[in-house]
Amino acid sequence: MSNDPLIKKLRNHKDPDVRELVSRLEKTEAQMHKIMSISDVYQAQLHDSTAQLERMARTDMLTGLANRRDMTDRLMAESARCHRSGNDYAVILYDIDDFKRINDTWGHKVGDHVLVKVAEAVRSVLRVSDVCARWGGEEFLVLCPDTDLSRAIVVAEKCRHAVEETEIVSGGNRITVTVSGGVCTSRTGNGCHDWEHLVLQADTAMYSAKVRKKNKVVAYESIAGG
Ligand code: GH3
Ligand code: MG
Ligand code: MG
Repeated sequence: MSNDPLIKKLRNHKDPDVRELVSRLEKTEAQMHKIMSISDVYQAQLHDSTAQLERMARTDMLTGLANRRDMTDRLMAESARCHRSGNDYAVILYDIDDFKRINDTWGHKVGDHVLVKVAEAVRSVLRVSDVCARWGGEEFLVLCPDTDLSRAIVVAEKCRHAVEETEIVSGGNRITVTVSGGVCTSRTGNGCHDWEHLVLQADTAMYSAKVRKKNKVVAYESIAGG
């Protein structure tokens, strides 16, 4: 029923044609309200679904970490921010040691469980401002904003140690897992803030840790001479 004073007045008009027209108008108005409220519900559902899709597109489904796409956006943003501010940021690239052997010995499902536990271990020791992503199959990339080399090495060692200490039990067996990590900061790269360059250097440092018998963290600076 309309609250419009004119409609209210016309509702009791002596001419039946006018009363009929008012009645039709009120029916149409009621239908319009119904359509609008249904449209509001659908719009809210669409909004929720879009937000969920966006979250999914940025999340690694197995570990719940940020995925490569999300990390790439964050690296680009951090790189641009540090280029303006002159502050340092650090990247740490981890690769699980002998992961193929874990898969071969215990099976792919246990391998997946190990990936989840490694992700949990790394995330548990990071600051809220640091981000960890699943960068590839058994590779994890940590981004530490506003972090210099000495601090980055401390963070990298903390994560490596957390993984080493992680209890992974499967079918009554205790599985040990370790990671090798490469650290690189924007200052290490000769003042370069380009994130792709830093990740490549972290990768070089990580391979150096593999050569040095694994379960180690190596800073790019220590192998590149500054
Ligand atoms: P290294 O210490 O030199 O890194 O040796 P590695 O055995 O870890 O390295 P390699 O590259 O030989 O093997 C990596 C393995 O990771 C092979 C691949 O099947 C496995 N892998 C990659 N993604 C996944 C995944 O999502 N789940 C499981 N279970 N395994 C995966
Ligand atoms: Mg690898
Ligand atoms: Mg590996």
